Amino acid sequence: MFKGWLIEKTASGTVSALKDLDEADLPEGDVTVEVAFSSMNYKDALALAGAGPVVRKFPMVPGVDLAGTVLESSRDGIVAGDRVILNGAGLGETRWGGLAQKARVQGEWLVPLPEAFTPEQAMAIGTAGFTAMLCVLALERHGVLPGDGEVLVTGAAGGVGSVALAVLGRLGYRTVASTGRAGEAPYLHRLGAGSVIDRATLSAPGKPLQSERWAAAIDTVGSHTLANVCAGLRRGGIVAACGMAQGLDFPASVAPFILRSVTLAGIDSVQRSVADRMEAWNRLARDLDPALLDELTTRHSLAEARPVADALLEGQVRGRVVIDVNR
Ligand code: NAP
Repeated sequence: MFKGWLIEKTASGTVSALKDLDEADLPEGDVTVEVAFSSMNYKDALALAGAGPVVRKFPMVPGVDLAGTVLESSRDGIVAGDRVILNGAGLGETRWGGLAQKARVQGEWLVPLPEAFTPEQAMAIGTAGFTAMLCVLALERHGVLPGDGEVLVTGAAGGVGSVALAVLGRLGYRTVASTGRAGEAPYLHRLGAGSVIDRATLSAPGKPLQSERWAAAIDTVGSHTLANVCAGLRRGGIVAACGMAQGLDFPASVAPFILRSVTLAGIDSVQRSVADRMEAWNRLARDLDPALLDELTTRHSLAEARPVADALLEGQVRGRVVIDVNR
């Protein structure tokens, strides 16, 4: 037996509970992992709270991230004792995820634990940090250089936003953090934000073209915020859009695209090739200061996952949350 969160479908929605699970109930897969740490992402919070259509198969163990040690493997190149991580790839959505003490997965998606990180640090990064790095890579591929001007990060005090600020700061970019939590300004400056703005300046409907301010942006918020970000990008600028904390809608005009050649780069962290995964994790190993990673991380037990999920959905969680599944 092992402990894990289980989400089951009910007549009125879903219910989640911490349960004793049987190894025999683990799904098919060629690698069994003893999970050490998982994390709490926006998606995990939605799944645990039954607040969004994240889970597509029931019953489901949530958790889009895991770090642990291989217990059994029938896959070439992966042996018992290997330290591995996995994020995305349907974990916690269509296949049992990381908020449990054991997981059985397809070995093709496993990434060796990067040498730079402990399993706990890898989960402090998790899907949110991995996504932040994918956003930074999109900016780099577009040719945005540290001297080009201000880079806006929305949802700055959240998981993706915090890691994005820390990485951009280390790379020498001048960042502007947009947040609804003015009290977190000192935290955002410690992560590297050059200045902090009130998210209310971006969250209401705005003009289709606004004064050209941002050389680039990372948006975790969507909706009117993303529309305003596009409208305020400088000619030829880019926004890497990865989130929907304000909403899934995109009430925008084509004006910034056809009059200023701005680029809207969509970022999906779930379906990524192993090569993409290795690139992002290697860059995180190089470009994320471990001291800042520690600064933006809080730690909780497996049983605390549900209250943490509720707090995250209420906008009360700062940075990243690691879940110690054996505590
Ligand atoms: P998170 O820690 O909850 O951060 C979200 C942040 O958004 C909050 O901390 C808050 O920042 C801001 N926010 C919340 N509600 C808002 C509202 N109504 N209007 C404006 N801003 C609001 O979540 P996360 O794990 O960083 O994820 C952030 C977003 O990225 C989520 O939408 C998530 O689904 C998405 N995501 C997508 C991918 C992908 O593959 N595309 C991967 C990971 C995450 P402030 O308090 O600073 O304002």
